[in-house]
Amino acid sequence: MDAAEKKVRAFVRVKPTADFAQDMIKFGPDNKSIDIYIKKDARKGVVNNRQTDWSFRLDGVLHNASQELAYETVAQKLMSDALVGYNGTIMCYGQTGAGKTYTMTGATAEYKHRGLIPRAIQQVFKAIARSVDSFITVRISYLEIYNETLFDLLSPTTSSATGDVPMAVVDCPRGVYVKGLSVHPVSHEEDALNLLFEGETNRVIAEHSLNKNSSRSHCIFTIYIESRCRVFSDVRCINSKINLIDLAGSERLSKTGSEGQVLKEATYINKSLSFLEQIVIALADPKRDHIPFRQSKLTHVLKDSLGGKCNTVLVANICGEALHVEETLSSLRFATRMKWITTEPVINVTCDPEETVRALEKEIILLKQELAMHNNLVNRSLVTYDPLTDVQIAEIKSQVHKYLQGAIDEIDIMNIRQVQEVFKQFKLIVRQQEHEVEARLRSKYALIDKNDFAAIAAAQKAGVVDVDRHLMGKKDGQEFGTRTTPVSPKPDGKKKKSRKSSEQSKKEGTRSYLSGREVAAPLPSKSQVTIPTRDLDVKERARSEDTANTDVQPSKPASAEGSQRPSSPPSKPVAFEQFKEECGSEISRIFKENKSILLARKKRSSTVARRINFIKQEMEDIKKALEAQRQERWQQGEYVDEKGHLIIDENEFLLIMKMKDLKEEYRSAYAELQDLKAEIQYCQHLVDRCRNKLVAEFEIWYSESFLIPAYAQKALKPGGNIRPGMIPINRVMCLGGWQRNAGGQGAESSYLETHLALTLAFPWRGQNRTR
Ligand code: ADP
Ligand code: MG
Repeated sequence: MDAAEKKVRAFVRVKPTADFAQDMIKFGPDNKSIDIYIKKDARKGVVNNRQTDWSFRLDGVLHNASQELAYETVAQKLMSDALVGYNGTIMCYGQTGAGKTYTMTGATAEYKHRGLIPRAIQQVFKAIARSVDSFITVRISYLEIYNETLFDLLSPTTSSATGDVPMAVVDCPRGVYVKGLSVHPVSHEEDALNLLFEGETNRVIAEHSLNKNSSRSHCIFTIYIESRCRVFSDVRCINSKINLIDLAGSERLSKTGSEGQVLKEATYINKSLSFLEQIVIALADPKRDHIPFRQSKLTHVLKDSLGGKCNTVLVANICGEALHVEETLSSLRFATRMKWITTEPVINVTCDPEETVRALEKEIILLKQELAMHNNLVNRSLVTYDPLTDVQIAEIKSQVHKYLQGAIDEIDIMNIRQVQEVFKQFKLIVRQQEHEVEARLRSKYALIDKNDFAAIAAAQKAGVVDVDRHLMGKKDGQEFGTRTTPVSPKPDGKKKKSRKSSEQSKKEGTRSYLSGREVAAPLPSKSQVTIPTRDLDVKERARSEDTANTDVQPSKPASAEGSQRPSSPPSKPVAFEQFKEECGSEISRIFKENKSILLARKKRSSTVARRINFIKQEMEDIKKALEAQRQERWQQGEYVDEKGHLIIDENEFLLIMKMKDLKEEYRSAYAELQDLKAEIQYCQHLVDRCRNKLVAEFEIWYSESFLIPAYAQKALKPGGNIRPGMIPINRVMCLGGWQRNAGGQGAESSYLETHLALTLAFPWRGQNRTR
């Protein structure tokens, strides 16, 4: 669309006359300009001072132009635009007798002199006849505005005075329309022409019966075009409205010399046209935001038909005689002003929702038929496009489960519905898994809302929660304070068992979605994950002065995997002290307890051993004393009673009795020593385990407190530990305390939660480190 098309187009049509003022009216060589020259009249002194030359540049000058050329120049483009959805307005302006009606309607007597309206109708119906894709309907209305009254020239009641229904100009979101104006559907060109003639006839009848002067009324012949696409899915409806307006004569009131009724009419005409002129000036001014369309019926009716979204064309009809030069100038000025109005025509498209649904349903049926045909051609006769049945859904569910178990390598894609159902089943499994993990956490640990102060206080009282409100005890309250440690960050031989267990868990992890029990599979067994305080509660709780901590030291920071991290974590000995005081306090306490028990056992063992040695010595001494007694008795001669029993003296008897007691004492001390040895061995084992656990947990805590974000990222990287179908990481984040600060303050607070959550989520966590 070029720049010229963005303005209202204006043409001038000169009525042919024998008295054409050749000296006064000159046309430019390109037929787009018209110059008016008025000779200075010596007799009229006043006129002498006035401007005498005018030049008007328009879109075309129609001089001695046939009706056909007039149509082609003025209306053809506008009408073809109307057929694709643009609104259009053609307006004839000029003094009475200048040829407005001739231009618009034409001479009814001769076919070749027919005007713009019959030719426009013809173009529309020719287009309909050619149209293949669209279903076009045409409707027509014919409105007359006379003395600010609306007349329906096609209404059956028009002949009987003003009609029964009072007509009114109504604004609505879709545009302006005249309420009560009859709109007539027409399916043939002749029908439309008949309506035009009928309107013209009604106008003439009214002229006589109502004593109207037809030159003083405005007539608006409107063609409504509605075009629907014949393609199924395209339910767009294109609408356009073409106003063909034969305005009342624009001659000045002073010139008519009218009086009485005629004067009233002339005043109305001028008023109405001067409002039109005001509107035209306002529309041409881009700074004007209010356009007073409602000032007159004519301007109100034409509200959405002048410029704007509407293709607009003006024809200024002028008489060529010198006599009418003032009116000619006036009409040319109006035409020039019209050209200032900008237009931005848009296609009027609407979509009827019901129609859309109907069309889409039709298209679905058609497409299904097409698909069925296509499937038959490629031997895919089993494919259907209907919603899946319960049996089909169950089959898909089973396939998804098999796929996750590894029983099948892939799921064959059948159709879109099946693919969608596969995704749905995956989603269900993931949700189920999330719930099960959470339920498991809840069943094992009392998860306390951090903001629930009452619950925290109660838990603290019960010793379930530490002062930082994070530690969760087992619900039975018997075994709490130790956390899961399926793997250690430090590789050593002792970890073989747990690694094996983790690997097993990893395998099981792929099918852990199946049931709650299998979800639990990655969880380390009780014996692996906890050191129940009950086990440590051995018979004797001898407290030792030994702090039992000096022999437990974490690895040096230099060897820590996080040594290359940008943050500066505290040194490990410092961190270790912090760890023992805070989240590692429980395991540290157990370690201390075990250690003190071990020491007590060892002490007791050495006491017993010493005692045994003492007894042994005593027994040796008594043995020697008895031997001496025997020697003495044998040398002195032995005494025997009447039954032949040897008689010994009291001293020897006492020695023998003591020897007996010592033997007994020796036996029991020896037994105790044996027991103590076994206990010491057991306690030593516990202490070793505790020591390892303490160090291992510290290492994990240290890594997670100061270094874990990178570690977690590592697990999340492609090829990392997290596989599709496992717990979403955000879920883990929710459960754990990932949001700890890097400085370690409060880092331990959610340690157990995090670790447990991580253990559940990544049962093989840490394996990479041990490999
Ligand atoms: P208006 O409607 O402007 O009052 P009309 O269209 O009734 O004027 O024209 C007045 C007369 O002039 C009519 O008889 C009409 O046939 C004739 N006339 C107007 N314009 C032309 C033209 N371009 N060629 C031939 N006759 C014309
Ligand atoms: Mg006329």
